[in-house]
Amino acid sequence: MAAMRIQERNLLISFGDITTSYVKHSLQGHSQADLLARPQLVPLSAKNIIILNQTHSIDGYSVARQIDAQLRPYTKNGDYIITDQPDIALAVETADCAPVIFASKRTLAVVHAGWRGARNGIITCVLGNFITYGDNIQDIDVFIGPTARSCCYRVQQDFINQFPDGNYFIKRGNDFYFDLVTFIIQELIKAGIARHRINDKYATCTICSEQYCSYRRQRSLNLRTMTVAVLLAA
Ligand SMILES: [Zn+2]
Repeated sequence: MAAMRIQERNLLISFGDITTSYVKHSLQGHSQADLLARPQLVPLSAKNIIILNQTHSIDGYSVARQIDAQLRPYTKNGDYIITDQPDIALAVETADCAPVIFASKRTLAVVHAGWRGARNGIITCVLGNFITYGDNIQDIDVFIGPTARSCCYRVQQDFINQFPDGNYFIKRGNDFYFDLVTFIIQELIKAGIARHRINDKYATCTICSEQYCSYRRQRSLNLRTMTVAVLLAA
């Protein structure tokens, strides 16, 4: 089965799945040209590809016009990448955390949003960057990819205590389950994004859908899937 692909205006997104997965950090040392020559891994064409060393932080990396074409995967830390340059593939690796893509007509960001980054405000940080780039919040579309959801994402009371009140925890029996997508949507709406600009139809649960990598379901395999997005040149 091919990776899920979205093309809208000048934006191309490919959400990876189990068929395009790889062992965590196995892309270490590869050149950008190597990775871009593997359509199974990166099913879109671009001149460069940026993959960060993700640390569940709220820090990111801004890709300027003069990109270092020699920059190899994992040599910069951060959990989001933003650019206004076309033909640069921005990648995010996940296995239960949410890949989230933000795009105006001229600016693109990909975000690694796990519970920690989302709770610590990575959504607000990314939107702040869009404003720095000269974008208006109301012109941004958001796409949320496959991630752990409330059908499966069981959490303990000490986890719940780290969040403000909200309707993103679901109780079944004596157990509580977290819905990361609902939490992210609420953060986006609080920040001024209209609900109709938020596309969550690709946000299938990674834990119960075997089509995806899941840290919780397959911990020992240590697999990751890559989501990539690119702004196409006009
Ligand atoms: Zn599930």
